[in-house]
Amino acid sequence: MRAISNGSAAARHGTAAKCQFASDNYAGICPEALQAVIEANQGYTYSYGDDDWTRRACEMLRERFETDCEVFFVFNGTAANALAVATLCKPFHSVICHESAHLETDECGAPEFFSSGSKVLLVPGPNGKVDLGAVERLVRQRSDIHYPKPHALSITQATELGTVYSVEEIREIGLLAKALHLRVHMDGSRLANAMATLKVPLKDITWKAGVDVVCLGGAKNGGALGEAVVFFDRELAEEFDYRCKQAGQLASKMRFLSAQWIGMLENDVWLRNARQANHCAQLLEERLRNVPGISIMFPRQANSVFVDMPARLAQAVRERGWHFYTFIGGGARFMCSWNSSEADVEALAADIRECAELINGNGSPPAA
Ligand SMILES: *Cc1c(COP(=O)(O)O)cnc(C)c1O
Repeated sequence: MRAISNGSAAARHGTAAKCQFASDNYAGICPEALQAVIEANQGYTYSYGDDDWTRRACEMLRERFETDCEVFFVFNGTAANALAVATLCKPFHSVICHESAHLETDECGAPEFFSSGSKVLLVPGPNGKVDLGAVERLVRQRSDIHYPKPHALSITQATELGTVYSVEEIREIGLLAKALHLRVHMDGSRLANAMATLKVPLKDITWKAGVDVVCLGGAKNGGALGEAVVFFDRELAEEFDYRCKQAGQLASKMRFLSAQWIGMLENDVWLRNARQANHCAQLLEERLRNVPGISIMFPRQANSVFVDMPARLAQAVRERGWHFYTFIGGGARFMCSWNSSEADVEALAADIRECAELINGNGSPPAA
């Protein structure tokens, strides 16, 4: 395995830096999270979450959410989502989400597996956001015993397509869910990036808007690993610790998961990290706007830029060493992280522009 080094010039500007736009989980650990882990690495303390680091991290999350929520730390987002869904749904229930949701497309059936059979039902919607009309039709079209009873609605904030639900949109979702007797789950793998865009109190887009449980992303925001599952209805959280343990998601040395959160929440490092990622994506979007033959696919509202580009161009950019995904959203996805820099973005944008101009025949011929 390749070691990730923040400080090394080779890692930042060599081929390693060229892979960073593939995903925000290509970045390393932010200094503050790492420092907190080092500080937690002193002597002995109680295991399985019965330690001061974990208590402090939970307390800090309660402060950020401004409510007495119940918090659990698990190893990754798939587990967080799947266990949250399993809590909201009985095996014969169903959970509704957008057709591009991570829950559906990237979790290998974990929500169905951990819920012992709850079916994931899909709705379409522009820009990665659920179409509420479609949700309502899906719930109302059947009420007979032969259909898996819809019991939860899952939304992703920021969405898989790099858009952000507004406060009003989430409120509307909460109201509809209430009317349809659906619990609301938020996949907040990139909630920090949405927060950096919306600049509103966390409570306004979560519990006050009717969200029951949030899976809050740590890894993509600057941690090494780990996500927080946050329940606003404490009754729902009952026995969730058993669920985590059974699923292999109870860390024995919990302090090293939780300490990262302390490092990231203190001084709002998590928001600073997200702002940096969003800023880099915004810069990339600006740089790509007038490049011939390509177009920006969705409103850029968080830390990713989706580009519709000819396959030939994508290949040329890849041949220059850049990595990016093309299996999400039907275009080339460039994802920025807390560790992205303007220089990295400029280098990427310059290569895309040059390749596009060469392909369009109005650039100067290659040097060699
Ligand atoms: C990355 C991501 C997750 C978490 O994925 P893991 O690899 O399981 O940690 C969850 N939801 C979304 C939308 C993601 O992008």
